[in-house]
Amino acid sequence: LPKQFQKALPILIEIERAHFEAYFVGGSVRDYLLGRPINDVDIATSALPQEIKSIFPNTVDIGIEHGTVLVNYNGEGYEITTFRTETEYKDFRRPEGVTFIRSLNKDLERRDFTMNAIAMNKEGSLIDPYHGKRDIANKIITTVGSPHKRFNEDALRMMRAIRFISQLGFDVSKETIHSLTENAHLLEHISVERITAEFEKLIEGDFKHAAFNLLNSSGMYQYLPGYSISKEALTKSAAYSISTLSNQQIWGLILFHINREAQHEFLKAWKLPSKKINYLIKVHNTLQNRVNIHWDYYELYKAGIQMACDVEILFLTLNGKDISQIDCEIQTLKNKFEQLPVKSLKEIDITGHDLIRWKSQKGGTWVKELLQEIEEAVVNQNVENNKNSIREWLISCNHL
Ligand code: ATP
Ligand code: MG
Repeated sequence: LPKQFQKALPILIEIERAHFEAYFVGGSVRDYLLGRPINDVDIATSALPQEIKSIFPNTVDIGIEHGTVLVNYNGEGYEITTFRTETEYKDFRRPEGVTFIRSLNKDLERRDFTMNAIAMNKEGSLIDPYHGKRDIANKIITTVGSPHKRFNEDALRMMRAIRFISQLGFDVSKETIHSLTENAHLLEHISVERITAEFEKLIEGDFKHAAFNLLNSSGMYQYLPGYSISKEALTKSAAYSISTLSNQQIWGLILFHINREAQHEFLKAWKLPSKKINYLIKVHNTLQNRVNIHWDYYELYKAGIQMACDVEILFLTLNGKDISQIDCEIQTLKNKFEQLPVKSLKEIDITGHDLIRWKSQKGGTWVKELLQEIEEAVVNQNVENNKNSIREWLISCNHL
């Protein structure tokens, strides 16, 4: 067993010693079978939350009403969830209430896809009543039970299906595609936060091209946040070669298809963090001005390497360049950035205080302006980056 499971093994043993069942379940088992890196190791158990809390001294109630207790063990946190069924689904969202049960198979039955409904015991044997392993081998995402019923219970599962397509490169059945199309509108009932969380994973997947195509062909894109603002932005973005683009670059590409005035509102509709919104808008503004930018040293310095790469990759993608051309251009840009004598204002060998002292003048906007002039001179290697040289240079330009 991989080390993440080994490390958590004593938890299964402890729970079994108290005469309950316990298994590894969900994403970690799936990713293990796929040979992919394992994230969190989740555990399912027949023990009730209170029973788990009496077995382990160090626990946190993170979702006790849904049966989940976080157990801190050997420096790691593990989510341990009591076997449960989800009976009442209301409004196409998560169930209102859950019922704790003692049957593993019933717990696996409430899970979304067969590949996510596999349990593994402490010996590494699989309990796989819905044939998740077979579906993994066939690279197919299959709902546990009818897709129509499962998407109606919780419409987020439709977004999860698409994000798994993007991450794993799997297919879905014709019946599933049909059901995604038919039920796409149910996404309106799902909170923006949950949709965004899945979409963020989707745009980081290696197979996002296929995922975008299905979002479009199923009509799901019309029920994503900001659609009323963006209309065809997502459909248009899928026309480019997007598979190697990063998260920020995908957002940048989508923004490219939205009017400038509407961009902020669009990103807000997705409830992205303000820091990310500001960055993306700046990327877009720089991209708009890209024809006037030649990435000389000072432009590169001002943008920073991340922004410069994001803008340049988008520019080249929009111009239909292929990946090898893009890689080559980006390498040139990175090499140039490495040649900069300083990479940020912090590295400049003087501060505003030095200037105030040297000029014996009160602080004001002049400090910032002069610093900027010095920055530009240092970056363009008109002056060496040390206090003395900068001082002499200031004198030679009549600034002191
Ligand atoms: P990741 O590796 O990205 O975390 P994951 O499959 O572990 O993927 P989680 O959101 O962590 O996804 O959920 C853990 C498990 O809970 C899933 O593997 C699945 O069995 C079940 N699950 C999660 N969301 C749903 C849902 N909306 N409907 C049914 N089962 C779900
Ligand atoms: Mg998980």
